[in-house]
Amino acid sequence: MRNRWHMDADVVVVGLGAAGAAAAITAHDGGARVLVLEKQEQEKVVSNSSMAGGSFICPNDVRESRRYMESLCKVGADLYWTDPDVLRTWAEYTSENKEWIEGMGGTGVTLVRRGGNTNCPDMNQSTSIVRGTWEDSG
Ligand SMILES: Cc1cc2nc3c(=O)[nH]c(=O)nc-3n(C[C@H](O)[C@H](O)[C@H](O)COP(=O)(O)OP(=O)(O)OC[C@H]3O[C@@H](n4cnc5c(N)ncnc54)[C@H](O)[C@@H]3O)c2cc1C
Repeated sequence: MRNRWHMDADVVVVGLGAAGAAAAITAHDGGARVLVLEKQEQEKVVSNSSMAGGSFICPNDVRESRRYMESLCKVGADLYWTDPDVLRTWAEYTSENKEWIEGMGGTGVTLVRRGGNTNCPDMNQSTSIVRGTWEDSG
């Protein structure tokens, strides 16, 4: 017979990988009562996040990284694979990743610049897409 239980929460997060953890922590820190539901057994959770190398993107220039991503996603005049509003939000928030990780106690955060100039002017903003790691990652 299935266990029955009842719980009230402001925010319910389904899945405790990196995305779920980030959502749960952010909602909790914003004052919400958070309930996290994970389908795997507590003792042996293996998520993609737990297997990942742990590197992350942290653009060093919001405007340039947004322009770069728009160049990658543009498929026609005013037609994009990904909505430009999503790309704007992505650029704004990922550029805060280093501070965010450090704010939660992450140490040894290192940022490495990638990319470089190309023959395609719209792609030259790739230098704003910076890769980060921290000592507890991976
Ligand atoms: C070997 C490897 C290396 C990688 N390296 C990197 C890297 O360096 N940098 C990077 O950015 N990305 C990397 N990735 C990709 C990255 O790991 C994933 O994109 C990311 O972890 C996905 O996070 P997530 O929280 O969305 O999903 P997951 O980490 O997969 O978490 C999903 C969770 O939801 C749970 N779940 C699923 N369905 C339900 C349900 N119905 N009810 C309750 N719970 C449920 C699962 O059990 C799981 O715990 C790597 C991936 C692999 C496999």
